[in-house]
Amino acid sequence: MNRIVMTRPIAELDGDEMTRILWQQIKQIVLEPFVELNTEYYDLGLPERDRTDDEVTLEAAKAIERLGVGVKCATITPNAGRMTEYNLKRMYKSPNGTLRAYLDGTVFRRPITVKGLKTYIPGWKKPITVARHAYGDVYKAAEMAVPGPGKAEIVFTGADGQEKRELVYDFAGPGIVQGMHNRRDSIESFARVCFEYALGVKENLWFSAKDTISKTYDECFRKTFEELYEAEYRTRFGQAGISYFYTLIDDAVARAVKSEGGFVWAMKNYDGDVLSDMISSAFGSLALMTSVLVCPGGQYEYEAAHGTVTRHYYRYLKGEKTSTNPMATLFAWTGALGKSGEMTGNQALTDFARRLEKASIDTITSGTMTGDMALLYEGEANVTDSEGFLKAIAERLKN
Ligand code: NAP
Ligand code: MG
Repeated sequence: MNRIVMTRPIAELDGDEMTRILWQQIKQIVLEPFVELNTEYYDLGLPERDRTDDEVTLEAAKAIERLGVGVKCATITPNAGRMTEYNLKRMYKSPNGTLRAYLDGTVFRRPITVKGLKTYIPGWKKPITVARHAYGDVYKAAEMAVPGPGKAEIVFTGADGQEKRELVYDFAGPGIVQGMHNRRDSIESFARVCFEYALGVKENLWFSAKDTISKTYDECFRKTFEELYEAEYRTRFGQAGISYFYTLIDDAVARAVKSEGGFVWAMKNYDGDVLSDMISSAFGSLALMTSVLVCPGGQYEYEAAHGTVTRHYYRYLKGEKTSTNPMATLFAWTGALGKSGEMTGNQALTDFARRLEKASIDTITSGTMTGDMALLYEGEANVTDSEGFLKAIAERLKN
């Protein structure tokens, strides 16, 4: 068979434990028979991060910046237990944190919806993608315990020495106070990647905040989105047949539950933290949730939203065949290959990515799946191990 050739490499970031095993299986069974993979390989497995003093993670971030597209396997974020398990030199930071700090950007979490697999909200027929602003607000706030009576104020001292003051509260007794911030450039690039993402998937974009209460802070978010939309996106959205829509966060929550899905929902940092966990659980399974980091420089990094599935890995090490779900990791690959095809004008590669996605979804709807999905399946499932599931997908792809 003629394999598809890739003209430009993508950055491949390998990882840990069970997902590292799945990574190999996915490449061998459903990718390499069809595509001549062209990747720059970075081993972000914990032993290699330790050997290189985590340099390899930074190298990988630079490769994504340079190549435009990356695909990442789940990785261990070390804690005290991992220090002894892997005999580490030090407790390295989360690789995702390092990548995000270097590349900046917004994380879009998108569920893979499959007909026949139930969601906890039966009305949701299409995916809801959460776009979480990952900078500032309460995550970079200054806080203080107020010991007793006195005034708390916000003071801004301009570069020219001019002061601006705003009373927060005149305390009669002890209390607490918090000061948070955001930056206009960060909000703007957040808005921009949200508009671009919605255009890419051709789905309506929602943005929600609380500007009726927060008349300066949240109002700045709302206005930034609105002005950018009017200036650069209204026409393009019209041509794509999609719309942009702002509503209050509480109204958005109520509407989302009653909706049938099929939209991108941009949220401020805290709202996104809370609601992305709610939405991914409501869609049924973390193993069916993909994640992409979209960077202001135009780079894309694709991954699964779940971790390294440690419990399955320990069973694998004992020689058991596990029924670990490879869908989210597989979709990280199809996301990256599809995007790479788009960027390099390689239609065959993009078509292959979409065919592979369809073949994997059709495999599930026809009844063959891993154990976690069988729990959500409405019919009688043929439960396979990970390898068996991937082989069934490859068979379907060949036909
Ligand atoms: P996890 O790896 O997501 O696994 C939690 C549980 O969810 C599993 O034990 C399994 O349940 C189920 N699960 C998750 N993915 C699955 C899949 N693909 N197929 C089937 N079941 C799946 O989370 P964790 O156990 O909290 O974390 C393990 C390691 O992953 C940690 O070292 C953490 O640092 C790392 N982590 C990495 C990332 C990342 O790289 N993006 C994200 C989160 C966590 P059952 O055991 O009940 O079958
Ligand atoms: Mg959270």
